[in-house]
Amino acid sequence: MARTPIVGGNWKLNTTRSEARALLEGLREELDGLTGVEVVICPPAAWLGDAADALAGSTLTVGAQNVYWEPGGAFTGEQSAALLAGTASHVIVGHSERRHVFGESDEETASKLRSVLDAGLQPILAVGELQEEREAQWTAAVLRRQLIAAFAGLDALPPGFVVAYEPVWAIGTGLTATPEIAQEACATVRSIIEQRYDAPTAEAVRVQYGGSVNAENAAELARRPDIDGALVGGASLQVDSFAAVCRAVAEAAGP
Ligand code: PEP
Repeated sequence: MARTPIVGGNWKLNTTRSEARALLEGLREELDGLTGVEVVICPPAAWLGDAADALAGSTLTVGAQNVYWEPGGAFTGEQSAALLAGTASHVIVGHSERRHVFGESDEETASKLRSVLDAGLQPILAVGELQEEREAQWTAAVLRRQLIAAFAGLDALPPGFVVAYEPVWAIGTGLTATPEIAQEACATVRSIIEQRYDAPTAEAVRVQYGGSVNAENAAELARRPDIDGALVGGASLQVDSFAAVCRAVAEAAGP
């Protein structure tokens, strides 16, 4: 079954407003109309409105980097999925920086995932092991724990559901996983989903690889059968490098 790969650009806590506007303009110029890949730009929350305006009517979509699961109330500084739905179509949930810098638990990630789905948004569920967990050969167990916890209360996954496999040791370090390691882990993600749901669901889920993806390594990663695109941090902050990743992924998936 052909899956449309998806590339996300996670800007994290980077860009001034004028940098963001220039980047958005450049990305639109380079990538609008690119076929064979879905492209999601995830700027800081403060620039979501600018991103929605700058990319309106293009093939590029906007994603948020985080969400709070409550629909409203006294939660200073937080953003609900319903609020994000005004500007974003996607939301990253469970990014390793949320898990490991901000201490978010598997259960909180599950609450976030449910709130995103309830709001009709497309989640990008990020999972991945720490260096010491890989060294202890716990990668599959960690992925299973994170995925099964995140799916609590979800009877089915919607079409096009996205999981980002991001080994924590590869994020922002320049230590990209080899294509073999990335492929093996993405296949593991798919098989956990098959066991939790069924084969058609597992076959339809898009599994991105994330962790120091750049213009040089994207094509080789994207050619692996269970890797359906990339979640890109550092290299998403330059038009040229991000556009090269998107093109490489589209070409790798092509006929
Ligand atoms: C990320 O932020 O999800 C990421 C993978 O970052 P980087 O590409 O910089 O490793």
